[in-house]
Amino acid sequence: MKADKVPEKTEKLKEIKEEIIGLKKSPLYEYRSDNDYFPVIGEGAHDADLMVAGEAPGKNEAKTGRPFCGRAGKVLDEMFEEAGMERKKAYVTNIVKDRPPENRDPTPQEIDLYGPFLDRQIQIIEPEVIATLGRFSANYMLEKFSFGENFPISKIHGQIYKKESMSFKIIPLFHPAASIYSPDRKSDLIDDFKFVKEELKKT
Ligand code: URA
Repeated sequence: MKADKVPEKTEKLKEIKEEIIGLKKSPLYEYRSDNDYFPVIGEGAHDADLMVAGEAPGKNEAKTGRPFCGRAGKVLDEMFEEAGMERKKAYVTNIVKDRPPENRDPTPQEIDLYGPFLDRQIQIIEPEVIATLGRFSANYMLEKFSFGENFPISKIHGQIYKKESMSFKIIPLFHPAASIYSPDRKSDLIDDFKFVKEELKKT
């Protein structure tokens, strides 16, 4: 049973946290220290069936160390509610664990540096579904599992990516921040969250 392994999973996740706290080689480390920011490791159930992977922490997240606790987080909370799911039962994280200055896009080097931490979180948590939020985490995962490169999120959102060699399904979703000023995106995101819930029921 996955739940029996929670203490072991928690221990391994703590190791990741310690490594990221001391990640002096990160190009984002100095910015973190200068601003008294926290790295944002992840939050939620350590035996979650659903893992949600966003892009990188924003200012609110870096100030608190909690993923998706600002404006985009409010939209994410709304999505969980609309789909009738509990956020605390999922594990929510990002591909890049430190805030990039002025919320700029993460660089390929930052994604290469932090990506392996996400890989390890996936191995530890053993989710059934990974819902990626936005193009960076979607493309990281889809490239990693050889589905292709540089997919536009508008073409791939709400679809299942799965191979026999994979123990989970990847379902790319729009980033919640992209839906703040776009009602169309928001309704797509709600539909996709409901779809994720249906997929989780099958597991
Ligand atoms: N946007 C993200 O991608 N992640 C967060 O944690 C917050 C905003």
